[in-house]
Amino acid sequence: MRRPFIAGNWKMNLDRASAVALAEEVAKEAAGVEGVDLAVCPPSVYLDVVAAAVAGSKVALGAQNMYHQPNGAFTGEISAAMLCDIGCRYVILGHSERRHILGETDEDVNKKVLAALEARLTPIVCLGELLPEREAGRTMNVIRRQFNGSLAGVHAEQMARIVIAYEPVWAIGTGKVATPQQAEEVHLGLRKIIENRYNQEVAQSVRIQYGGSVKPENAADLLGQPNIDGALVGGASLKAESFMGIVAGLGL
Ligand code: PEP
Repeated sequence: MRRPFIAGNWKMNLDRASAVALAEEVAKEAAGVEGVDLAVCPPSVYLDVVAAAVAGSKVALGAQNMYHQPNGAFTGEISAAMLCDIGCRYVILGHSERRHILGETDEDVNKKVLAALEARLTPIVCLGELLPEREAGRTMNVIRRQFNGSLAGVHAEQMARIVIAYEPVWAIGTGKVATPQQAEEVHLGLRKIIENRYNQEVAQSVRIQYGGSVKPENAADLLGQPNIDGALVGGASLKAESFMGIVAGLGL
């Protein structure tokens, strides 16, 4: 049985005071929730203050990105060890905004995934097709290519620790959500890809989140699908009420 996992990706939003206030509110409201893993992923400059705000609560800390090198002359970058040092458990890797706006390749994501695993951080690896790719019927080809490229050299034991986020790019921040059936079809396909590469046990243990305009109003239908194990939430994670409204969609 996979434990659901809901994570908030705050992206480049909020300021120091509002980040702390949001983290405190989520931590407070999460106190009464059982049976789900929760995380918030603030901008890197606020990781430290948010770590303090969620300390001792049910809410874990995640980063939105990292660099694959352990240290050295890489101006502006942050290593996996630094994220661990500051209290992160998770790191989002290969988000579509990093792939499509900042030019990250599967090879770049792969180096980061291997470095995160080495540091015992849990990567949340994002995969997802563009609208023209979906319309051309190429969704699973894209997902397979991104999976193979981003997760090259990952052993079975490491794979079982990774979280995948299926995020169709056309549904991110657009208000256009994939139907539960569209999402479930890709999640099931992903589980088959994992099973073919590893085995059934690994495939059944990997958590696959859905991401793309998840809100309290659509969460229950999406999260009710057998192969959707949680959500990576952007816009709706910026208010405690809507983030916790999505958690409520699990019906726990
Ligand atoms: C995201 O950026 O990971 C995301 C899913 O954003 P939104 O929920 O705003 O579509």
